Amino acid sequence: MTKTVVIVGGGSAGWLTAGIIAARHNPLDKSTAAGQGIRVIVLESPDVANLGVGEGTWPTMRDTLRQIGISEVDFLRCCDVSFKQGSQFINWQRGEGESYYHPFVPPSGYGSVNLAAHWLHHPGDSNFVDAVCPQGKVCDLRLAPKTPQTPEYAFGLNYGYHLNAGKFVELLQRHCVEKLGVEHQLGHVDEVLSAENGDIESLSLSSGEILPADVFVDCTGFAALLIGKHYQVPFVSQRHCLFNDTALAVQANHASEDTPIASCTKSTAQSSGWVWDIALPTRRGIGHVFSSQHISVQKAEDELQRYLAADPALAKQQHSPRKITFQPGHRQTFWHKNCVAVGVSAGFVEPLEASALVLIEKSAEFISNNLPQERSAMTVVAKRFNEIIGKYWIDIIDFLKLHYVLSERRDSDYWRDHSQSQSIPESLQDSLELWRSQVPWVSDSNNRAELFSAASVQYVLYGMGFVTEINSRRYRGWDKDAELADRLMRDNLGKTEMFMASQPTNRDLLNLVRGG
Ligand SMILES: Cc1cc2nc3c(=O)[nH]c(=O)nc-3n(C[C@H](O)[C@H](O)[C@H](O)COP(=O)(O)OP(=O)(O)OC[C@H]3O[C@@H](n4cnc5c(N)ncnc54)[C@H](O)[C@@H]3O)c2cc1C
Repeated sequence: MTKTVVIVGGGSAGWLTAGIIAARHNPLDKSTAAGQGIRVIVLESPDVANLGVGEGTWPTMRDTLRQIGISEVDFLRCCDVSFKQGSQFINWQRGEGESYYHPFVPPSGYGSVNLAAHWLHHPGDSNFVDAVCPQGKVCDLRLAPKTPQTPEYAFGLNYGYHLNAGKFVELLQRHCVEKLGVEHQLGHVDEVLSAENGDIESLSLSSGEILPADVFVDCTGFAALLIGKHYQVPFVSQRHCLFNDTALAVQANHASEDTPIASCTKSTAQSSGWVWDIALPTRRGIGHVFSSQHISVQKAEDELQRYLAADPALAKQQHSPRKITFQPGHRQTFWHKNCVAVGVSAGFVEPLEASALVLIEKSAEFISNNLPQERSAMTVVAKRFNEIIGKYWIDIIDFLKLHYVLSERRDSDYWRDHSQSQSIPESLQDSLELWRSQVPWVSDSNNRAELFSAASVQYVLYGMGFVTEINSRRYRGWDKDAELADRLMRDNLGKTEMFMASQPTNRDLLNLVRGG
């Protein structure tokens, strides 16, 4: 029987995994049959700091927090949170100031009628996002996705969060320990002790203590102590496809307490990477992610400083960036023997679509839902986990690379190299071939585990000016759908105006929640 799970690592991966497992198998919950609860221990080294970055989430985080039992108001107050309604991509297409949104709200009627096909047929005056969804205009005005009357975690417009990563870990830790019976232990793992069958039997800590368990979750970040150092599970580099391997991060003050708060992550393309810009209620997190093979750290910092200097509110501040380096890629497998890797230990690529925290949520949910009752079942569970997470990685890499492949920029080796076919995964080349004559749609993904929906693909493709040659005769029921599509697009205009008139600004809503 799985009785004890030890999670090594107390970063966002460790505490999210602990919360998700303990919420389902809570040893404090007396309503579960005696002995059914599982002992969850988070072991954290006092000598190794957390990564402490990772400020953008997906809407999935709302369900995760609700499931763990955290009140949204507490979360908003404790973690310096703002609402994220998607991403805005600036200078990605030509580098001439153009921009488009990838919002969280899918096109109107998504799942029943493919509005992208109709928009391509009759584009009219609107760009794709504005023709099919209100969220772009709402983001332009820095409005909130809900009103003060909307219940916790409910929404008018789908949203995730921007948050302070350090404060988020503190809240998760407090909640997991006080409400979910998770045990928190400080200790540095010196050695991994093996059982005869190759499983990990226990961990030897620098204090001399030996910590045994049935399942070990490796959340040790870039150290990858169990999955990498101990088991030597190969690392699959993605550097040939996604070149970025270094980040320079700064925190900047708002000009005043009333400074408007952006509703989305802004991603501005540079000569050899891109700058993220995330607004929290009390500050902005800004950073340059770039390829060290294409630009020196000094030049990358100069580009970051130019970005900061262009904003009058930031120009007068002094910023000393923190440098973070990483190998873009992931493990070949993620669950080996009785050890499963979650978070950066399992893999990391640039945070262009904030795909790291959502993958932690998905991985931890799978582990929690499928925690093997017997050791004999673990091999099958591990195989399934590896298949699913492996597919998620293919999806992530294809989707991130799509942003680069669609770009018309050729102003540096970086952009020219991104357009080279040998840097483009075959799976993405196949999809692009399909999308030249066929609009991405829900049914494309029947056989794959996907993180990014056809709606997300549409937003990036048509935001970047990609052309799908529509042959209306090939779309069955086109005439019938055309009427519905016209109506949905007209309704969208009305909805957009309604949201623009009725939503409070992010700043006003957050001030209300934080002050209340
Ligand atoms: C520049 C940048 C921007 C990012 N932006 C985003 C974003 O917007 N959205 C998003 O979803 N993700 C983002 N990420 C990813 C996100 O930061 C990580 O997924 C997240 O922080 C999880 O990290 P972790 O818990 O896996 O590792 P860490 O935070 O590094 O935690 C590792 C833990 O392991 C412990 N440990 C290490 N060695 C030992 C040992 N020997 N014994 C005991 N304990 C040990 C440490 O003490 C620590 O607690 C970003 C990452 C980077 C680099």
